[in-house]
Amino acid sequence: MLNMKSVDTVRLSTNSKFKFKCHKNIDCFTKCCSNIQIMLTPYDIIRLKNRLKLSSGEFLNDHTYVEIEEKSNYPFVFLKMNEDKDRKCSFVTEAGCSIYDDRPANCRYYPIGQASLKKKDDTINELITEEFYFFVKEDHCLGFNEDREWTIGEWRDDQGVDIYDEMNRGWKEILFIRNLPGKDFDEKQQKTFYMASYDVDRLRRFVFESPFLQHFDVDPAKLEKIKTDEIELMKFGVDYIKFVIGMEETLKLKKK
Ligand code: SF4
Ligand code: SF4
Repeated sequence: MLNMKSVDTVRLSTNSKFKFKCHKNIDCFTKCCSNIQIMLTPYDIIRLKNRLKLSSGEFLNDHTYVEIEEKSNYPFVFLKMNEDKDRKCSFVTEAGCSIYDDRPANCRYYPIGQASLKKKDDTINELITEEFYFFVKEDHCLGFNEDREWTIGEWRDDQGVDIYDEMNRGWKEILFIRNLPGKDFDEKQQKTFYMASYDVDRLRRFVFESPFLQHFDVDPAKLEKIKTDEIELMKFGVDYIKFVIGMEETLKLKKK
């Protein structure tokens, strides 16, 4: 689990510089892949379940566990660690991460953490999203002693996080509102959030095999897209959550 004592409180931008190198010959190689809490996003799950050739339901069942955030009732999904004494990630091998090209966004960012918050911009009188970064400095990680210099922006490029941030943007907007008064989930919203965020194969069945389309007026071209393109389906799931929790009129109900 990420030890909060290891989180450096200095806020960093994409131009901030740091020295770091992670490589196979470093003494701490793969030490960061044990006993750690890795929260997964909808796009992480699509990449991982396809990599492992599993359905989303099988992946969730075999490789994840859920924690319900106390204040908001939001269900969050985390990568399951092995149950041995080291609590190693089930994907770590002596040669490193066995699913490296599809590793989750949090693994890509490490040892950088990323946070986003909404704040009021008085010049335009609107809420804007502020993104910032911070170091996660854990005693076992020797990479900070190495001499390779990066900016955070260069690190982001090297680790391929752009596509992850882009894919998860709509979903993260839902997370922003969770601590506002009256925005915690009831049981139905919690179940909808879980299915539409994480279980894309069940979401497809829900849209096409339940009475869903008797109630919602969905553009035929959009329907055709979400039938065959699971990224489009994932984005539709985010729209559905926003509708169900009353955040945005993202869907149209059929006239009776
Ligand atoms: S998914 Fe890969 S990089 Fe992430 S903790 Fe597991 S082995 Fe390490
Ligand atoms: S502990 Fe740090 S330097 Fe060592 S393998 Fe993990 S990220 Fe790389």
